[in-house]
Parts: sequence; C-alpha cells; structure tokens
Amino acid sequence: MSMRDAMDRALQVGILEGDDIGLEVVPETIKVMRAAAAKVGLAIDWHAVPIGKKAFDELGNTMPPGTLDKLDTLDGWVLGPIGHQAYPKNNPNSINPHPILRRHYDLFANIRPSKSYPGVPCIYKDVDLILVRENNEGFPPDRNVHLGYGEFRPSPDMTIGIRVITRQGSQKIARAAFEIARTRLRKIVTAVHKDTVFKLACGMFAEECRKVAQEYPDVAFNEVLVDTMAAKLIMKPQQFDVIVTTNTFGDILSDAASALVGGLGLAPGLSAGPERAMAQATHGSAPDIAGKGIANPYAMIMSGQMLLAWLGHKHNVPAALQAAALMERATENVVKAGTVLTGDMGGKASTREMGDAIAAEVGVL
Ligand code: ATP
Repeated sequence: MSMRDAMDRALQVGILEGDDIGLEVVPETIKVMRAAAAKVGLAIDWHAVPIGKKAFDELGNTMPPGTLDKLDTLDGWVLGPIGHQAYPKNNPNSINPHPILRRHYDLFANIRPSKSYPGVPCIYKDVDLILVRENNEGFPPDRNVHLGYGEFRPSPDMTIGIRVITRQGSQKIARAAFEIARTRLRKIVTAVHKDTVFKLACGMFAEECRKVAQEYPDVAFNEVLVDTMAAKLIMKPQQFDVIVTTNTFGDILSDAASALVGGLGLAPGLSAGPERAMAQATHGSAPDIAGKGIANPYAMIMSGQMLLAWLGHKHNVPAALQAAALMERATENVVKAGTVLTGDMGGKASTREMGDAIAAEVGVL
C-alpha cells in the first residue's frame, strides 16, 4: 500500500475486545477514538472481529478461522487483554491468540510509555519514558522455537530454558527505538542488557544497538546493565527517555516503570510490525475486577491513541496524527482535573464515566 493510496481512503481499524475487563475498556477506547476522528474529519471504517472466550462461546474457537483473514484486510486494530489462563484446557480450539498474531504480523516492537501526571497517586511526578521491548525472540518458550515450546525437562529434576537473539531482530528493535527517540525532546536511547554475563546473546544485542546508534548522530546513546537498570529505574527514572531491551527484560522493566507513575491501569502499549500495529495495554485481563465497571480505561484508551499516531506516521495521514494529539490532550486534561477518575487513580468514577469524560473533553477541545 503506497502512502498516496492510503491517504485517499478510510483507515481500516479492527475492534477485538478480548476477555474480562477488555469487554469494558475496549468500548470506551473506541468511543474516544471515534470522538477524536469525528472532530478532525478522519475517516475510519470500524470492524468488530471475534477473539477470546466470547468467540469460543459463540463460535467454538478463541481464534476463529476468519479472524486472521479479516485482520489481513485491516491497517491496525485495538486488542483488549486476553485472559487465556482461564480458557478451557486441552482443547485445540481454545488457544492463546497472542503468539499467532505476533508471528503472523511480525509484531516485533512492543512500545510501552510511562508518564506521570499531576494529581495521580504515583511514586514520581516527573517521569516521561518509553520502553521499547523486542517482542518476537528472547526467553519466552512460545517464541524461542519454530515449532513446539522452548522449555525442556530432560529429567524430572532438571529444566532447560533457551533464549533466541538474532542480529536482525536486535537491529530492528534498535532502529524502532532510535526512530521514536528522534521524535522526542531529549533524544536519548538507553540499551539495557547484561553482556557481561550473557556474552553471546546480550553481546549480540548490544553490538547491533551500537551499530544502529551510528546511523543516528542526532540521538544520544548509552548502555546500562539490566540489574543496574532495575535500581536506577527505581531511584532516578527521570534520567531515561527511550529504553530499548530484549523481550523478558523489557516485560519486567515495563511493569516496574508503570508502577512508578501509578500502576498498570496507566500503562498503555502498542505492538508494531512492518505493516500492522495493534493497540494493546500492558495490563492483563484483570479477572479479579472484571464485570464491576471499575477498571481504568486510561491504558487502553492511550493504547488506541498510540495506534492512531502510528497509523498517521505509517500511512502519512495528518488527520490521524491530529486525532492522536487530541486524544492525548483530552485524556491528560481529564486526568489533571482529577474529578472523573477510577478507583486505582484515587477517584470514584466507573470505567464508562471516565470514558465518557474523555470523549466529552475531545469534543470541547
Ligand atoms: P497478565 O499476565 O495477563 O499480564 P497479570 O497477572 O499481570 O496479567 P493483570 O490482569 O494485569 O495481571 O492484573 C494485575 C493487577 O492489576 C490486578 O489486581 C488487576 O485488578 C489490576 N489491574 C490491571 N489492569 C487494571 C486496570 N485497567 N484498572 C485497574 N486495575 C487494573
């Protein structure tokens, strides 16, 4: 799809509600995205696509065969959290859809911002960082082998785990981090690894980051060992701008980073590949609070905002960038005002009330 073609048509965006609180936070996200699109005259065709437990109950499959075919026709989508732990066991039709989506669309970059806002109960009031996590390789056993599962138990008392790092994968994620850093004020990339111990695997990742850094003289580059990073992130997170790291290190550090600014309800995310991107909050499906209408929609809404920004850059659609900017300002205003917040942010509002307030704010901006 050329940029010019894309500008001449509506963006095609999927709605995949996922499980548990996904059924509550995704509709609020779409509500706000629709309001922002309407405000700036951005044409979006919306497509509800079945996935998860609801799809299993209604269509007999957590990842119905038509779902990928449909997604192939879209530019991007909003995916609610997936609660696959609760799917029926030992049933080939109740699989975790995540690995399929990740592989099929090469969603190699998991981008997770952490930003503090005044008024939100948090540890630091001045954090503004983005963690860029490699998403397709590393330690996770569903990603480190082509077929099967990459953990082995050769004897009852011994387990072997493996980790995959490739030059190409490391280069791709490093480049994604530098591209993001370029759009930011401070323009600093910090590569996080442990090449002193994982000499070959982290060594390769670090080498590729250093090579890519040469291509971006306008972006400052430094490296921090992952254990040091754990301490620095807690003691002085303000010094970080864009952090790039391998899969599992990124998974852990991004949850920690979200805790610095108010917790998982405030942690948006985007999984991006060469052609498609998927709005995907950092939090899980939170079955403990599902159905109560109290989940914080912020993370999912801001994930939708990231998707619009990505689509705007990718397909050269200025209106999508405007809609994303509007969503960001509206969300920020509602959070700063502090009157319509969910319980985790110290307020009393329901998921829907907070979504309504942000959509209304989009309307008046
Ligand atoms: P996963 O392994 O799927 O990422 P998890 O085990 O990390 O899931 P979550 O589902 O993210 O767990 O929930 C962790 C805690 O954070 C739970 O107590 C949950 O209620 C809370 N939580 C998660 N998301 C939200 C949200 N959007 N609003 C409020 N609380 C949330």
